Amino acid sequence: MLQTRNGKRTAQAALKIACDLVDEGMRTEQEAVAMIDPRNLDTLLHPQFDAKALKAATPLGKGLGASPGAACGKVVFTADDAVAWKERGEKVVLVRLETSPEDITGMKAAQGILTVRGGMTSHAAVVARGMGTCCVSGCSEINMDEENKKFTLAGQTFNEGDPISIDGTTGNIYGQIIPTVPATIAGEFGRVMAWADKYRTLKVRTNADTPADAKKARELGAEGIGLCRTEHMFFGEGRIDAFREMICSSTLEEREKALEKILPMQQSDFEALYEALEGNPVTIRFLDPPLHEFVPTEEADIEALAKTQGKTVEAIKSIIAGLHEFNPMMGHRGCRLAVTYPEIAKMQTKAVIRAAINVQKKHPDWKVEPEIMIPLVGEVKELKFVKKFVVETADAEIAAAGVDLKYEVGTMIEIPRAALTADDIAKEADFFCFGTNDLTQMTFGFSRDDAGKFLTAYYDTKIFENDPFAKLDQVGVGKLMEMAIKLGKPVNPKLHIGICGEHGGDPSSVEFCHKIGLDYVSCSPARRRSFVR
Ligand code: PEP
Ligand code: MG
Repeated sequence: MLQTRNGKRTAQAALKIACDLVDEGMRTEQEAVAMIDPRNLDTLLHPQFDAKALKAATPLGKGLGASPGAACGKVVFTADDAVAWKERGEKVVLVRLETSPEDITGMKAAQGILTVRGGMTSHAAVVARGMGTCCVSGCSEINMDEENKKFTLAGQTFNEGDPISIDGTTGNIYGQIIPTVPATIAGEFGRVMAWADKYRTLKVRTNADTPADAKKARELGAEGIGLCRTEHMFFGEGRIDAFREMICSSTLEEREKALEKILPMQQSDFEALYEALEGNPVTIRFLDPPLHEFVPTEEADIEALAKTQGKTVEAIKSIIAGLHEFNPMMGHRGCRLAVTYPEIAKMQTKAVIRAAINVQKKHPDWKVEPEIMIPLVGEVKELKFVKKFVVETADAEIAAAGVDLKYEVGTMIEIPRAALTADDIAKEADFFCFGTNDLTQMTFGFSRDDAGKFLTAYYDTKIFENDPFAKLDQVGVGKLMEMAIKLGKPVNPKLHIGICGEHGGDPSSVEFCHKIGLDYVSCSPARRRSFVR
């Protein structure tokens, strides 16, 4: 024998071959599942370019394939334009330097999202994956002129309304419309996934922030919510205002007044999450991001906020300026917010517990057992401090309602020090959940939002073979995870452990999580099925 080669096959062909081999008695069901490369399956779940049209097209540039699928449409530059153009019946691709929470409605309205800056865990990438929308991020070859609504790429100038197509799997960008075809799931796909479900031991949860996401994920087989980023619940119309009032409060009294407005919104969202999950576990993470991410930037919004709060525009601007940080990802965020403003965590506790009580009453046969997750803990005393008033508030709510409700308080392990001191932290935590987006950022010491700029050089020079934000660095970050498990479990044998960073949707990272003994993986709903092995 001179040479052997793998038979190259599409995802559909691989599924058909696997099924045929089982039907012919050549392979067992387990072997058939193991024959499928899970990376290929992701593409089956999203619209793709028409193969013939794609063959005739040449890419103009390339960014990071940040959220799979293909999209084509007309270029727009702002979230408002994306919404307005969509209402006129146009298909659009939103092109931004980078996205922020204010762009959410535009991101929802767009077929795809293209950003100049940002890596695999930038705002655009994470939100697009959550929405199942195609996204190419970090295309630094683009020369952007947002003010004049135009950009250039490979010598071609794109104005508002010009045609563009992007491929969120390869990262390719095309200066023309390439028609897309919808995702189809062939019969063999269902069979192979059913076998995977039969043999796997790792549970699969999803990251979901809205009742709609949770419902969708549940329909697609998610066994729980591993991460609800509560801050994402404020993106909707009319919600951001109350949140901004809370941020721009000058006194405890003012903040509590704003929190009173937020409480029923959160409670009703949590109720809808519990309803959607039908008694399966729901992990709700308390407020995490730096508050400056939510403050208004437009003059009109600042004026409106000043008016509602009875403050001057200058006063609001000065509060906003005061929130500025040089290094926000390592700044006033995570449990540090709860340490400074316990009233926020108290409000969130009330909302979680009241929602759980209501849903449990409506469905006595379900097991509604809230999992409250405290983010960014690096020192056990932080967790102890926050947990104390979470427990006091929760117990008071349960007593007032005269019911018997169990709940858990756990923490994310996303700061290296938390992994190093996991034996202390495990004494206070009912569960650990690895936040590998932050754990990767803090272990490597480079920013998840900025690393895209230099990582290409790292791939070219073979310092890195993969984006560590997409594929878990098992040697370094993985060692911290193993250490946390080894330290935590003996101290608290009941401790259950999962992962909710984006790595929870990457096949080789999932395999690693299985090997080190995690109970579940959780990732964006649009990546929910492609990695089950
Ligand atoms: C993480 O850090 O891995 C995580 C899940 O939290 P976030 O991405 O919201 O920081
Ligand atoms: Mg995090």
